[in-house]
Amino acid sequence: MQGVGFRPFVYRLATELGLAGGVGNDMAGAFIEVEGPPAALDDFAVRLQRELPPMASIAELRLSEQPPRGQSGFRIEASEAAGRQEAQIAPDAATCDDCRRELFDPADRRYRYAFINCTNCGPRYSIIRRVPYDRPNTTMSAFTMCPTCQAEYDHPASRRFHAQPNACPLCGPRLWLVDAAGRPIDGDPIARAAELLSAGRIVAIRGIGGFHLACRADSDEAVLTLRLRKGRESKPLAIIVGSMEQARTCAHVDVAAAEVMTEKGRPIVLVAHRDGGAISPHVAPGCGTLGITLAYTPLHALLFAQGLGPLVMTSGNPSDEPLCRDNEEALTRLSGVADAFLLHDRGIERRIDDSVVMAAPAAAVAGVDANAALTFPIRRARGYVPNPITVPVPSARCVLAVGGELKSTICLLWGNAAVLSEHLGELPHPATYRNFLATVELFKHLLHLEPEVIACDLHPSYVTTHWARAAGGAVEAVQHHHAHVVSCMAENGITGRVIGIACDGTGYGVDGAIWGGEVLVCDEAAFTRAAHLRYYPLAGGDAAAVETWRPAAGLLHEVLGADWPAASAFARVEPEALALTAARLSGRSRLPLTSSLGRLFDAAAFLLGLCDRNGHEGQAAMALEAAAARASREVEPLPYEIIASAEGPLWLDLRPALAQLVVESAGGRPVEELARAFHESVAAAFADAAQRTAEQTSLDRVCLTGGCMVNRLLLCGLAARLRRAGLKVFTHRHVPPGDGGLALGQAVAAAARIAR
Ligand code: ZN
Ligand code: ZN
Ligand code: FE
Repeated sequence: MQGVGFRPFVYRLATELGLAGGVGNDMAGAFIEVEGPPAALDDFAVRLQRELPPMASIAELRLSEQPPRGQSGFRIEASEAAGRQEAQIAPDAATCDDCRRELFDPADRRYRYAFINCTNCGPRYSIIRRVPYDRPNTTMSAFTMCPTCQAEYDHPASRRFHAQPNACPLCGPRLWLVDAAGRPIDGDPIARAAELLSAGRIVAIRGIGGFHLACRADSDEAVLTLRLRKGRESKPLAIIVGSMEQARTCAHVDVAAAEVMTEKGRPIVLVAHRDGGAISPHVAPGCGTLGITLAYTPLHALLFAQGLGPLVMTSGNPSDEPLCRDNEEALTRLSGVADAFLLHDRGIERRIDDSVVMAAPAAAVAGVDANAALTFPIRRARGYVPNPITVPVPSARCVLAVGGELKSTICLLWGNAAVLSEHLGELPHPATYRNFLATVELFKHLLHLEPEVIACDLHPSYVTTHWARAAGGAVEAVQHHHAHVVSCMAENGITGRVIGIACDGTGYGVDGAIWGGEVLVCDEAAFTRAAHLRYYPLAGGDAAAVETWRPAAGLLHEVLGADWPAASAFARVEPEALALTAARLSGRSRLPLTSSLGRLFDAAAFLLGLCDRNGHEGQAAMALEAAAARASREVEPLPYEIIASAEGPLWLDLRPALAQLVVESAGGRPVEELARAFHESVAAAFADAAQRTAEQTSLDRVCLTGGCMVNRLLLCGLAARLRRAGLKVFTHRHVPPGDGGLALGQAVAAAARIAR
């Protein structure tokens, strides 16, 4: 990979050890030739791997001996036009320790310079326009390096050798602050911005991949104002902190979480809220978790050096629209939201959101795997993309997978490398769709690939399905939950037949029903359905995913018949809507059937009075999980049934659990205990079905996937049960279990089918 300081590192190491030879890139990767005394060569081989620069990694190292040639000196060979190898681009990386030290060193020429970077850190993917990754092909082409910067750039021993974004206060990007009307605010922009933030104002900050909106995280008034102006009612907001010490004042950061928080990708990490911390309750209402990111740019570091406490740091966009990228765009689209704008003139080529990673608490991790920390991305973007994911079976053909429709990503697969795009967002939004089209083109260009096959979802009316069909090439449609399972297999490097548990919200099934609680027996190419949640009717179309009483009505109608509206929770629902739904449920008209686990969780949250409306996706499920996590003791699962159906797949019937929930909640049993018991029932039912499937098929590997797997109680409860039953459990670690990971599974499934 270019621009990660690998060649200069090799140069420095070889020179230090007095070795002769050279380093360069060719079609196959990097090559190094070293010549010298055996002890020094051994040293070299060890230190090459041990002291690798932070952004470099060695995928495979091959050693061979050559007769000595009596060379002297060590060279960095000019790279030839080396095609795909040269095309690999690094993700954006957080400021390294060396740059941070220079940033706060009054004697350094980049003292307090907000755009300091080096080969070990700084922007990469977000500034690239085309390959190869050279300065003229990035947004840094607008700046001509001063002689001092140029000398660093040219000298192999410099930490800034070939650092494309290299810059200094004399020659590089600059920072300025304007008010809401776009008028310049005098004085030091950092100090003035920090003053405004301290005073409770909202400041739009231009970052690496787009704009953020920031305000004090400890001020109810500031947070509520931000929510109001941004039109973001309930969805949790992330916060940014200046140090780990600051993070620990507001959350429980365990070892696993701390490790992810300090990774060079610097994602937002979801950790357990600390009660009594200084964070406003309006930051993440109804969640047991708080999303925290550690300052990752020089600009962040400078702001926190002004003595600021934790800040809310949320994406700078009007609700649900793509991120603002350019200065003018932000001044227009965020007018009325921000009180001031901290702007700069380093162009952003790729808008890229912050990544979000779930870190399960140590106690929960022990239930899954005592050795491995349970961390996985929920949103994979800045800091990880475009790092390739290595898949176990190489594909002879280039496959482009276009993903689902929400939390969309695309994936290009060729050989063993699958490159998954950043989170693009909700494709029904026109601007997001345009970004999807642009990303397809960019990926083809960056990777020098022309797809031979396009993989898409089976859903006939997803915009991505339409696009795939209209593209004019070969198309492979992959069933949604099969793709989820294959994505989990691929990133775990496993192949062949497995049992896949897909706990999901919505996915199109081969029978036209809305699937979402599935146990599959599959390999990469094909699947059979071993078990699924027993179908229930869903009234209300799109509203059924928002109004949590709707799935509750459909489920309870099955158990209680026409008496279902008598359950006390329904007193909170508008009588007319209730009457209409009652008529539809008992009428002859055919309602859509679903096996969605997401909607089942919604129903439970509704019946326990925890959430009537999904103001954002997963709100009810989060409220249910947060309540369950507060339960003071272990509880037994509620009753469920596993029924052998005539069609073949087992039916997981959780309606008895739901009915019991209604009875016990009326009887006064604490909501927390019931929420916990419900989680236990779901985990027990799926584990039970997987175990029966394992007995029938003699398979012992189980992949856990789907959007509901972000629920840690479900994930850990399920994994622990399966492991106790002697099964091998695989979970997501590098791609999201939800629809953000779908494209990877689609690509691998399509490749497997073609190969077959
Ligand atoms: Zn650096
Ligand atoms: Zn300079
Ligand atoms: Fe899904």
